[in-house]
Amino acid sequence: MRAMSLRTRFAPSPTGQLHVGNARTALFNALLAAHAGGEFILRIEDTDAERSRTEFEVALLVDLSWLGLRWQEGPDVGGRHGPYRQSERRASYRSFTDKLAAKGRIYPCFCTPAELALSRKAQLSAGRPPRYAGTCAHLTDDEIQARLASGLQPALRFRVPEDGATAFEDLIRGLQRFAHKDIGDFIICRADGSPAFFFSNALDDALMGITHVVRGEDHLANTPRQLLILQALGLQAPRYGHLPLVLGQGGAPLSKREGGGSLQELRHAGILPEALVNYLARLGHVYARNALLAFDELARDFEVAHIGHAPAHFDQAQLEHWQREAIRHVDAERLWDWMAQAPGLSARVPAAQRSAFIELMRGNLTRPAEARVWAEVIFGELPDLADAARSVVRAAGHAFFEVTMQAMRGRHAGFAEFAKAVSAATGVRGKQLFMPLRAALTGMEHGPEMEKLWPLLGAARIETRLRRAAELGN
Ligand code: GLU
Repeated sequence: MRAMSLRTRFAPSPTGQLHVGNARTALFNALLAAHAGGEFILRIEDTDAERSRTEFEVALLVDLSWLGLRWQEGPDVGGRHGPYRQSERRASYRSFTDKLAAKGRIYPCFCTPAELALSRKAQLSAGRPPRYAGTCAHLTDDEIQARLASGLQPALRFRVPEDGATAFEDLIRGLQRFAHKDIGDFIICRADGSPAFFFSNALDDALMGITHVVRGEDHLANTPRQLLILQALGLQAPRYGHLPLVLGQGGAPLSKREGGGSLQELRHAGILPEALVNYLARLGHVYARNALLAFDELARDFEVAHIGHAPAHFDQAQLEHWQREAIRHVDAERLWDWMAQAPGLSARVPAAQRSAFIELMRGNLTRPAEARVWAEVIFGELPDLADAARSVVRAAGHAFFEVTMQAMRGRHAGFAEFAKAVSAATGVRGKQLFMPLRAALTGMEHGPEMEKLWPLLGAARIETRLRRAAELGN
């Protein structure tokens, strides 16, 4: 018999843009499956018809693909356990409510939202955790029929055993135990016929043969309910692992201001997918290797045992670190496509100098817009001198730049040689020599290596800029 392969899934609700916290959940499931040579499934949990939108589903697929995740089964690629949208699986949920009804594990509940709210309030004010009071738990057949005949639509409630507890070994948090008396009978199907989250989520995991579920710790309290449902139906439950949440630096829930925006925002801001993947893979999971790793390498070293128990803190500085690493490693063609997102860049960089420009920029930028600035500085007309650069040029003085213009007649192979000639003629060295030259040639005090800038600038531009500096230095 073939050993059952490990199957994980990401099960987003298409009710908004994908954020970093959920993207990490998706990534961990994909890594876990790839590590074991198993399968990663994408399932769209769109049972909430009011909040679910097709455009969010489309955006989810775009974001996950951009991140480099590949699923073996899903709404777009199909698979043998489809359909992969819960809205298309209604009929199968109904057959399982029938089974539960036949076993006496569910009952119709006619309580109105107002009645439930009142009972909740009463329990809370009595200092008790709110749970269903059991109002409809023991209605007779006649009482049920009478209510149905009067046109009332019931919800379906799962009957939780009075005694005992449901325990499970969480992949991340270890043994978890929930006493049944604390759970309370819960709704699996609303009065309008729509399945509740606990129900469709648990059923689909079982029906799709999911073996491992890694999800946010906000779902921990749902797990005993889901285990009870699956047990009642005699279905195989997956193993669950609940991830600590991703928090902002200060410990509060992650906010947009702290970089916790949507993937779409990060992408539009110019973050490279491999930077985000390398960052997210390490957000709450320890890797021994600190190098930028490809998805397969990240998967090879992924271990549930290496997931931390404490909340992970989103750190923009770390993300920027991986962004620099990604830029360092990306091939020239992709680096150019990425930079060229900056409007006007391709028109500004002469085709013959494109390769040199790409390599010049590689170690000197983290966002496409910076490439646009440097393209203007290098290939544009005389760049404006920033205030600080202007003072540096003025301080160096007219005579210094007169010498630089003479030195240019020597046609030096590169910047180092040119600077050496200027130094020999003026006696100026070190910072006093290099800063005015950089300021005069680029208008800035910092930037890429002058030796690499030199051939891109070309003699004609260099001479014009030195002449301007000489005039300023009067
Ligand atoms: N649709 C649920 C959510 O987006 C899925 C939870 C789970 O992974 O089980 O939170």
